[in-house]
Amino acid sequence: MSVFQHIEFDNHEHVAFCHDQETGLKAIIAIHNTQLGASLGGCRMWPYSSDDEALNDVLRLSKGMTYKAAMAGLNQGGGKAVIIGDPRKVKTVGLLRAMGRFVESLGGQYISAEDSGMSVADLKIMAEHSNHIAGIEAKYHVNGEQADGNPAPSTSYGVFVGLKTTVEFALKRDLRGVKVAIQGLGHVGLRLAEHLYKAGAELYVTDIYPESIDKAVSLYGAKAVSLEEIYDLDVDVFAPCAMGAILSPETIQRLKVKVVAGAANNQLAKESCGQLLKDKGILYAPDYVINAGGIIDIYHQKIPSSHEAMRAHLERIGATLVEIYQRANELDQATNIVANQIAEERFTKKD
Ligand code: NAD
Repeated sequence: MSVFQHIEFDNHEHVAFCHDQETGLKAIIAIHNTQLGASLGGCRMWPYSSDDEALNDVLRLSKGMTYKAAMAGLNQGGGKAVIIGDPRKVKTVGLLRAMGRFVESLGGQYISAEDSGMSVADLKIMAEHSNHIAGIEAKYHVNGEQADGNPAPSTSYGVFVGLKTTVEFALKRDLRGVKVAIQGLGHVGLRLAEHLYKAGAELYVTDIYPESIDKAVSLYGAKAVSLEEIYDLDVDVFAPCAMGAILSPETIQRLKVKVVAGAANNQLAKESCGQLLKDKGILYAPDYVINAGGIIDIYHQKIPSSHEAMRAHLERIGATLVEIYQRANELDQATNIVANQIAEERFTKKD
């Protein structure tokens, strides 16, 4: 397996293969780009079926973090770590300490945060051996409440701001009476429903868990729809807040909305789906721009900041989206392509 020839290799600066014989730890840390600052990104633990699958994931995700940080206006680059193994079976204190030592060995060029298969408690163990672990000492909260380290309130507030901005841009109206279909009522989706309800939007919701649907119906007057129906509704906005790859040629053809704006990562099944949305006259808020609230939250936890400064930073997601939409109109290009261009301009070194 060659890293340099790998299909997901994109001029990554540093790829470290980490092995600790005593604990059995096998991990890969990828630093994609540090032009704007040290790389920041989650550490994921997953039972990858092969080393190549793990490499594929870490190369792709670390690159994504460079784009996300650049568009979020952070002085950070993009990085990611993956630990190979089933977190329910092979995660031990010794293994996490060994991982902390590997993160430390990179001298701060990679700052590790939480991701799938890892908890804040796990990160705290890594932090026993590294000063470069983020998201373990929450101090600020978007609503000025007691911070508990969960970035979902920031993510959902950022998505709310982005959705509102996108509706204003596309439909020239505020959220009162705007019909929004929310797919997924988890940590982010349910809070988004609350923001939208307070702003006067009319909600249509779905989830695989009836309890979550019941909450949105009783608290926010939402109308429950089936998992499949969510794509066919005669509404203004589709807000994907569950899983990725939901915008495919098949689903896009069914959508009747004018705006897609939601929290889910990797919403486009293929990059070319951005153009399909444009062709249908749907304004798409690029996922990694609108859902950057979580990383903005983690960033503020590690600098001297305040509730207000973090909230103001989250609100800048709106201005970033407007910049994308204006340029997309001028160039007659899809918003996902324009977002990538702007990010590349920001993180590409100009000597
Ligand atoms: P979550 O797991 O808490 O919620 C996801 C919800 O989607 C769950 O309620 C689940 O039942 C539901 N769901 C799953 N499959 C579904 C389906 N087929 N149809 C409808 N609903 C379905 O996750 P979350 O933290 O709320 O994150 C939601 C999305 O936003 C994910 O894609 C995540 O990667 C992304 N995201 C989250 C954050 C964050 O801060 N939590 C930050 C950036 C991006």
